Amino acid sequence: MSDPHDVDVIVVGAGFAGVTAARELRRQGHRVLVLEARDRIGGRTWTDTRLGRDLEMGGTWVHWIQPHTWAELTRYGIGVVPSPAPVRGYWISGGTVHSGTADDLLGVIDRGMAASTAEALSYFPQPYQPLLGGERLAEVDGLSIRQKLEQLGLGAEEFDAVEGMWATNFSGRTEDGGYAQGLRWCALAGGSWQLMFEACATYKVVGGTRRLIEAMAADAGVEIRTNTRVVSVSQDDGGATLTLQDGSVLTAAAAVVTLPLDVLDSVTFDPPLSEGKRRAAHQGQASQGVKVWARLRGEFEPFVALAPGSAPLTLCQVEYAEDGETIVVAFGSVSDRVDGTDRAAVQQALRQWLPDVEVLEVASHDWVADDLSGETWPMQRAGQLTGALGELQRPEGRVVIAGSDYADGWAGFIDGAIESGMRAGRDVHALLTSVATVPADDPTLAPS
Ligand SMILES: Cc1cc2nc3c(=O)[nH]c(=O)nc-3n(C[C@H](O)[C@H](O)[C@H](O)COP(=O)(O)OP(=O)(O)OC[C@H]3O[C@@H](n4cnc5c(N)ncnc54)[C@H](O)[C@@H]3O)c2cc1C
Repeated sequence: MSDPHDVDVIVVGAGFAGVTAARELRRQGHRVLVLEARDRIGGRTWTDTRLGRDLEMGGTWVHWIQPHTWAELTRYGIGVVPSPAPVRGYWISGGTVHSGTADDLLGVIDRGMAASTAEALSYFPQPYQPLLGGERLAEVDGLSIRQKLEQLGLGAEEFDAVEGMWATNFSGRTEDGGYAQGLRWCALAGGSWQLMFEACATYKVVGGTRRLIEAMAADAGVEIRTNTRVVSVSQDDGGATLTLQDGSVLTAAAAVVTLPLDVLDSVTFDPPLSEGKRRAAHQGQASQGVKVWARLRGEFEPFVALAPGSAPLTLCQVEYAEDGETIVVAFGSVSDRVDGTDRAAVQQALRQWLPDVEVLEVASHDWVADDLSGETWPMQRAGQLTGALGELQRPEGRVVIAGSDYADGWAGFIDGAIESGMRAGRDVHALLTSVATVPADDPTLAPS
């Protein structure tokens, strides 16, 4: 009997998770089609020409302690280049700007960062099995990162700087961000907050993230249809049927859906996703912040600047300084507080640290308002790790959910997207070939 489906697998979304899953499934011999609503691949990574340079509007920094990303960089022979090491530091407490060397600033946050991550390895002894901590982890998972900071007995200056650091890490309010998510990040960096910090904001991909995703997509060798938005996914025992925005219909034996958690419910599923998945999607991630690029008049010595989470921008650092100008990148924890495309608004926000700074031009993409993402980098709210992750990862019949939002390890990073895409590829291959899904000795997939 001839195959009744258009293809074996349809992958929804051409970010790192979708492209990875497509490549893995193609390597297994399946016929794969990727449907992407945007006019480009890369999803929440986007190397775009702005302010006269190729700038990363989304995901940027990578590190060798992120195993899936590093393996891909090695596979395609792509290197990394460091951002400038900061020399000066600025931090704000009680409305007062403090300044010193970058080491002075690291000194201010050291005690609070160390204390807030001290239990990382105790709760996450094997970070790629994030639920190994069981009941004990569930108890602490109810805490927000802010609640934990308030328990540490930090001085006001330390508190404000450390809270600003975590607001930046979460791209969100510290009262929303889950303490356990912070511990998970630090455990992946061997329990060192300094190494965690380095992994988050030091090494960029030579040629940009676009170069990496394009290498992976070329290697996948599958059709990626851009400008193609999926509006519904239905399934029965025979396969999955996807309806596109233009009303056309495609069928496959299975589907991989890589929508970010905040927009997972923008597609209609029939039968509906489990209640646990829907509840998590309704709640969304804590990461509702903003990333802004600004071109400044004058060449600034490399600096890093921190402000409390209540400020419009919580962290700023120099990326390029030449020809009498400087390009900085900055982050805020609530996207509504500063319009990253408004030069005057960004200038005002940066003047909290540098009162005379003159902003010449800005660039930003509002990932929170973007109805294909609804969030920046995925960061769990308090309770979501133990309350939702296992359920979100569970395949629903012929539909597998994948993406950085649902990763075991570096959720929130490109690494998590690749990890999750690998898992989805393996799950769908197992489904289509009826082989056992989880080898018993595979630690990344042992039931948690
Ligand atoms: C501002 C910002 C800064 C970041 N910084 C870093 C960093 O420095 N380092 C790092 O490692 N990570 C960083 N990240 C995180 C990283 O970029 C993401 O975790 C990763 O790219 C997510 O990949 P994904 O494939 O899971 O999801 P996405 O990249 O979001 O891919 C999902 C795809 O699905 C598509 N889609 C959605 N709905 C539909 C639909 N209905 N039909 C068809 N297609 C659809 C979307 O357009 C998108 O292309 C950052 C992210 C942001 C936003």
